[in-house]
Amino acid sequence: MQMTRSLRLAALALAAAVLPRAATAQQGQQAADTAYTRQIRELTPTDPQWKFSTEFVDYLPASAAVPTPLKVLGYVPGTVGRLSYVGDINRYFRALDDASTRVRLFSLGTSDEGREKVAVAIADDSVMQRLDEYRAMLGRLADPRGLSADDRRRLVRAAKPVYWLTGSIHSPETGSPEMLMELGYRLAVDEGEQARAIRANVITVITPVLEVDGRDRVVDSYKLSKELKVGPLNVPLVYWGRYTAHDNNRDGMVLSQKLTQNYSRGFFYWHPVVGHDLHESVPFLYTSTGTGPYNEEFDPIVVNEWHQLAYQEINELTRRGLPGVWTHGFYDGWAPNYVLAIANLHNSIGRFYETYTSMGADCHTVRLPASATERRWDRTNPPVNGVRWCIRTNINYQQSGVLVALRHVADNREMFLENFVAKAERMIRRGQTTAPYAYVIPRTQRRAAEAADLVNLFRAHGAEVQVAAQDFAVREAGMRDAGSGMRGAGASAAGQRDSTITAAQRTASAAPPISPEATRPAGTTSDSTRRDTAPASRPAQGAPAAPASRAVHAGDWIVRMDQPYTATVRTLLSVQRYKPDDPSPYDDTGWTLDELRHVEAFEVADSSVLARPMSPLTADARVEGRVTGSGATLLVRHLGDWRSAVLPWRARGATVAVAESSFTAGGASYPAGTFIVTEGKGGNGGRDAVRDLGLEGVAVSALPAVARHAITVPRVALVHSWIETQNEGWVRYALDQMGVPYTYISDQSLKQPGRLDRFDVLVFPHVGGFGSSLLNGRPMIGPAIPWKKSALTPNLGRGPQKALDETDDIRPGMGLEGAAALRRFVERGGLLITEGATSRLPVDLGFNPTVSAPQTQRLQARGAVFRAQAMAAAWSPVLYGYERTTFPVYFNQAPLLAVQPRDTANTRDEHVDPAIREQTERMRARVILRFHQRQDSLLVSGLLAGGDEMAGRAAVVDAPVGNGHVMLFGIRPFWRWQSQGSFALALNAMANWNNLGSPPSGSSGRASAVAAGEGR
Ligand SMILES: [Zn+2]
Repeated sequence: MQMTRSLRLAALALAAAVLPRAATAQQGQQAADTAYTRQIRELTPTDPQWKFSTEFVDYLPASAAVPTPLKVLGYVPGTVGRLSYVGDINRYFRALDDASTRVRLFSLGTSDEGREKVAVAIADDSVMQRLDEYRAMLGRLADPRGLSADDRRRLVRAAKPVYWLTGSIHSPETGSPEMLMELGYRLAVDEGEQARAIRANVITVITPVLEVDGRDRVVDSYKLSKELKVGPLNVPLVYWGRYTAHDNNRDGMVLSQKLTQNYSRGFFYWHPVVGHDLHESVPFLYTSTGTGPYNEEFDPIVVNEWHQLAYQEINELTRRGLPGVWTHGFYDGWAPNYVLAIANLHNSIGRFYETYTSMGADCHTVRLPASATERRWDRTNPPVNGVRWCIRTNINYQQSGVLVALRHVADNREMFLENFVAKAERMIRRGQTTAPYAYVIPRTQRRAAEAADLVNLFRAHGAEVQVAAQDFAVREAGMRDAGSGMRGAGASAAGQRDSTITAAQRTASAAPPISPEATRPAGTTSDSTRRDTAPASRPAQGAPAAPASRAVHAGDWIVRMDQPYTATVRTLLSVQRYKPDDPSPYDDTGWTLDELRHVEAFEVADSSVLARPMSPLTADARVEGRVTGSGATLLVRHLGDWRSAVLPWRARGATVAVAESSFTAGGASYPAGTFIVTEGKGGNGGRDAVRDLGLEGVAVSALPAVARHAITVPRVALVHSWIETQNEGWVRYALDQMGVPYTYISDQSLKQPGRLDRFDVLVFPHVGGFGSSLLNGRPMIGPAIPWKKSALTPNLGRGPQKALDETDDIRPGMGLEGAAALRRFVERGGLLITEGATSRLPVDLGFNPTVSAPQTQRLQARGAVFRAQAMAAAWSPVLYGYERTTFPVYFNQAPLLAVQPRDTANTRDEHVDPAIREQTERMRARVILRFHQRQDSLLVSGLLAGGDEMAGRAAVVDAPVGNGHVMLFGIRPFWRWQSQGSFALALNAMANWNNLGSPPSGSSGRASAVAAGEGR
């Protein structure tokens, strides 16, 4: 290593001595790589009026020792038609590492499909030789607890900010990996004043590709587009990563995907002062600030820093004649689910660019709508039409902007470091001086294993979690939420600690059957509910003001707020209030995670909690299941969580039945929905599953005398379309995580004779786009578009472990034949579960004519948390385990469902044969879950306006069709690994696919599975 380094330096000196002098001031005395520079200039379109390059990037410095991308890959980034695979991009950066002492490559881990993600650090030799020391300095500033004023001053003077650039998280946004290779070279070898200033003051870290699986696929799809002559990138990228497509950038809160996990591990390794994510969609260069409303947990300093960096770039690039560099508009800055939010919520700066795409690696003439080219207050230098735009233009814009930003951070190094440590100090101080001082997650709660997952998520976000060492009392912050039953002083009284409430108790005061149509609230036209005007992240106004005393028990988990990484905890446990007159939201407006996951947590209002006895949790929290008692039969209460609901799948070799009503055994009461498990001969599958899943089983010697049905674990098919796979990808991810096996099939295959014969349950998740496209697919124009592995497209097709799918032609949809096959499948006794937009399909096709999907005019219910009511009248296994009548669910705008009420002319008419009347009622769909019928009780967290159109509408409907059922979810039960509280609704439907029951006739003796009264 030492040998090669000195050789390299010698070669560098030699190169500088013998090559001709550079032409521009930027290059100083260094020679340019003339062949490469010539290509840059040829590849950049010119225009008499506008500039599309800067003096930062219109040349490439020469180096005898360090290879250019041209030398290693055979082309100059920005060459039309050329995009590199991940393997080649990483190979280039390894060559850079090998050749330059200023460059070091780190692995960030691998993707779901085993492709490597790298982080490449670049700085001066003197910095690189002490890289670990510099990392440690940033780590110390990131957590300044106990840092003396002297040390703080010394560190701010000495440390070098890490500026982490990440490319192509969004695979069709192809330019950034190409740009970053050239930037890496430039920063490593350029001896100009700018590069030297950056290298001396900033540690630039480059991750050329964040979505490595999608990158290889988009290079394939680009090549295939060319081959098929359908237009660049017009082979749609149906799969990006294994599970998510564009939503790979919506995982920043829950860190469920490998991509996000790798990123956050890298974040805590580097402690970057800036994280800069490179996107490609908006002309020509949008540099992020956003319209607001900004997430309330973003420190005012970081908001100012976004603007400072953005205006620096706008000014520098505008002065150089580049059109279309702007900020403010485009996105809001509210939901912290982007990768860059990890930086913003950890006292760093998270920012992004949107540059204009060249569609793969092409050129086109810019033709934008007037809305994109008009001058506005926030876009005084708008994009222009009629000019030529090429991949090299995109690269020039991105690279020039990034160099401006790097230089600005280099020139203001100490200020950015001062801000960096100040944000951490402010976070700590806030937790010492203002409520909440801590969050408590009770260890003993109904869904303790789910609570442990939440605790572990906080740990993954870098928050320290403590465990209460003894019992004590604290003042709880005012109830943030009056109705869901999870928050506030009343929560434990609502049975959170008590899993033994009997169905008899629950049904004792069960509400009478309610028709959603009949009980739409009258006169609730005003939307000025008490919570709609409350600011986010604050106790909801109108909630009880007087803090209540609350017991903390030894073993309870505590997240103290007097530590630097608490912003994520705050936002995940806050109630969001997005105002209806705020700019249109860019993504979700509410995500309060303890609500979505049906976990109990509360805020502590008195600072004395910080002095209470507690000890750090040093490993991930885990709730061990247990089995007590003895005997051959195992009774397992259903807790309304996914761990309970998957027991039939996980109890290998055992026979699982479910109690249809409440019963007592061994002196204890058990509600309907309790599992009755009988082990197979010599097996322990039931007991093992109970332990693994963190459940509680009670072994008894005799089978309880209670009506029950055996669970036949269904043969499940997960149906995907070729329109998009991202939404089913989240469902697929959840099923994989929970250990629910399925066969993965395409909607094109539905019509194949006999295809559905071997399944009992079809899960057909939400598909974005228009309803009719499910039937019709894509336009049958031009050639067939295969999604298959081939010599040209080695990364398309089924992928490793055959995890994905393939087809000869992605264009056809399921067709009317596919829809007919779905219907036949249900008629002969199958269960079809639809979700979100796919629920429109059986409604529009009239599978069950008593269901409709009413349209709304004024409703704004954008990606938020709403209160739903279990319909006490509608006995259904879907509600097994749900102990409350009212609980939060995720919903996004549509579809709302409705079921034709009972008192139609047909059933009222006394001349109708009673048998016909009964048959009519048997085929009537049933509302399982509806949105709260009171408009002022509907919203838990997020944006709601026009709630009168939503109140009382159905959220989950069980629609009998022939011998089977369609279970229509208007809500999204498996939303982005956030909505664990509703997972069991879908799993219960699946497990009980052949015992979904029928409406109780008259006053049914059947036990209700839901609690009585309005849950509080
Ligand atoms: Zn993007």
